[in-house]
Amino acid sequence: MSEQTTIDHDVLVIGAGGAGLRAAIEAASRGTRVGVVTKSLLGKAHTVMAEGGVAAAMGNVDDRDNWRVHFADTMRGGQYLNNWRMAELHAKEAPARVNELEAWGALFDRTTDGRILQRNFGGHRYPRLAHVGDRTGLEMIRTLQDHGIHEGLDVHMECTVVTLLHDGERIAGALAYDRERGRFRVFRAKAVVLATGGIGRAYSITSNSWEYTGDGHALAYLAGAALQDMEFVQFHPTGMIWPPSVRGILVTEGVRGEGGVLKNRDGKRFMFDNVPENYKSQTADNEEEGWRYTQGDKDARRPPELLTRDHVARMIVREVKEGRGSPHGGVFLDIAWIKDRVPNGAEHIKKKLPSMYHQFKQLANIDITKEPMEIGPTTHYVMGGIRVDGDTQMSTVPGLFACGECAAGLHGANRLGGNSLSDLLVFGKRAGEHAAEFARTNGDVRLDESEIDEGMRYALAPFERGTSGESAYQVQDALQTMMQDAVGIVRQQSEMEFALGELAKLNQRAERVGVPGNREYNPGWHTALDLRHLLIVSEAIARCALERRESRGGHFRDDYPEKDPAFGTFNHVVRRGRDGAMALEREPIPALPAELAAIIEEMK
Ligand SMILES: Cc1cc2nc3c(=O)[nH]c(=O)nc-3n(C[C@H](O)[C@H](O)[C@H](O)COP(=O)(O)OP(=O)(O)OC[C@H]3O[C@@H](n4cnc5c(N)ncnc54)[C@H](O)[C@@H]3O)c2cc1C
Repeated sequence: MSEQTTIDHDVLVIGAGGAGLRAAIEAASRGTRVGVVTKSLLGKAHTVMAEGGVAAAMGNVDDRDNWRVHFADTMRGGQYLNNWRMAELHAKEAPARVNELEAWGALFDRTTDGRILQRNFGGHRYPRLAHVGDRTGLEMIRTLQDHGIHEGLDVHMECTVVTLLHDGERIAGALAYDRERGRFRVFRAKAVVLATGGIGRAYSITSNSWEYTGDGHALAYLAGAALQDMEFVQFHPTGMIWPPSVRGILVTEGVRGEGGVLKNRDGKRFMFDNVPENYKSQTADNEEEGWRYTQGDKDARRPPELLTRDHVARMIVREVKEGRGSPHGGVFLDIAWIKDRVPNGAEHIKKKLPSMYHQFKQLANIDITKEPMEIGPTTHYVMGGIRVDGDTQMSTVPGLFACGECAAGLHGANRLGGNSLSDLLVFGKRAGEHAAEFARTNGDVRLDESEIDEGMRYALAPFERGTSGESAYQVQDALQTMMQDAVGIVRQQSEMEFALGELAKLNQRAERVGVPGNREYNPGWHTALDLRHLLIVSEAIARCALERRESRGGHFRDDYPEKDPAFGTFNHVVRRGRDGAMALEREPIPALPAELAAIIEEMK
């Protein structure tokens, strides 16, 4: 068929965000030849956008914190659908991963006695997020990137993987194209780590970058792996809503961690109106106590603005639906009020939240030290993902590993803020370690030429239809609008049935998409190839959401508004059936070991 180059690695890591880089560093440090593929430039992966911090029970600010509290918080936040082994490993290993990052050169904000400073975040009982102002992701990526280069990683930038390759049942590499010239590259590898991030571009309002088209999820699914709990999509409560061009851009939870409060049109702090039963004992019941908590008073309980994201997002939707929203369909987030409480208030806000200050000043002409921000929910994170073994991160396909946002398990039905960056470090390291071990203990792989040819034929098909085919952008736009309207924050049966019908039609339209021009930096072509991935993840979300006839975590059903204990005993798993159709099953959650069950009971 067309020209191609073949490149050999022991371990191929797809994705250069926090998870991919940490995996690659680990694999390289164990003596394997590691290649990293990324759709964008090194240093530009989505992780760079992370703001608030990385969660790790280091106890630097509150010495009552430890891995047991972090474990219990993560399980409570995930409404007990979490892979408890992952939640345990994550809570135990996150502090070491953060310290290691510091040893590699990351400069975190400091306590007065020189330790890593930690801040409050939703759902975390104690101040736990190590941070660098509100630019933590930038520092993390910079550090990992520098360290990775020293480990001798071979980085293939602006290169998109279109299909995974097999040697029998085992993964044998990947077929990719370089975005600049459009030429194919074949990667042969003994083990592959997927670290491709999330799926936010399946929705029209999102905080996620253009890279988030669910590639890893879909590549794994097509390669025979299982996806888990895809109904759980996190809608972050605070995205910008005005002007329209910036809708969806994230407003970090750090604003609320620093004392920011949510108010409706009437100036009321509506979050006090409805505190879920399982958080009541930990939540302040008056404004004064909430403020004291944000200022480090150990005897105070957290303000209701710092409840979990799913709950806060639904409370905002309720205010808007009941006519108490802001002029552009959201509510107000006010940090300016703290000026009355702290010396040099305006400077304090700018120092603690420099990116937020600039973001609102430049994009919305709002000075957050003087005026409240107008905010509303935005599609932010996917808890569902590739089903992996909790210890090794290997998927259900031999030799195929996954870590970071594209993997499932740690967060259950809802992720706590800050638990993603720690997830990347803890499970990135584990994925790299076990992928290296797999590569070392399993022999060479043979590539199947017919599989490569088929992948290239599929990738080039849109050019054959040229201008006679439909525009990829139109199909993408229709998909995003439909998902936003029908499979969004509040769901019901009829909407999801409608969504599945629409997805069938959109799949047919995607097969007719045509691309004019040539292969050199052709965004229309790139979008056409993204469509298959977006459609697969959207179908998985809609199918799982239809089946989960209850409300839990990030999944809220208008027709089943309560949590049903029967749905707390299994995970949803989708696989590609022999007929090519998506098949959904229930996988029972293994019983918690007595030691972990006791921790949860004790911290209730
Ligand atoms: C604005 C914002 C702020 C956030 N703040 C925080 C925070 O403060 N704390 C926290 O814990 N979490 C935060 N999150 C979430 C967190 O940033 C992400 O979940 C996390 O960075 C994902 O990292 P990752 O390594 O899994 O993926 P990414 O960093 O997204 O990296 C994915 C990589 O995969 C590559 N890729 C994808 N598809 C392909 C393909 N087909 N071929 C080749 N390469 C591919 C991409 O190019 C990229 O290099 C935030 C998210 C957003 C949007």
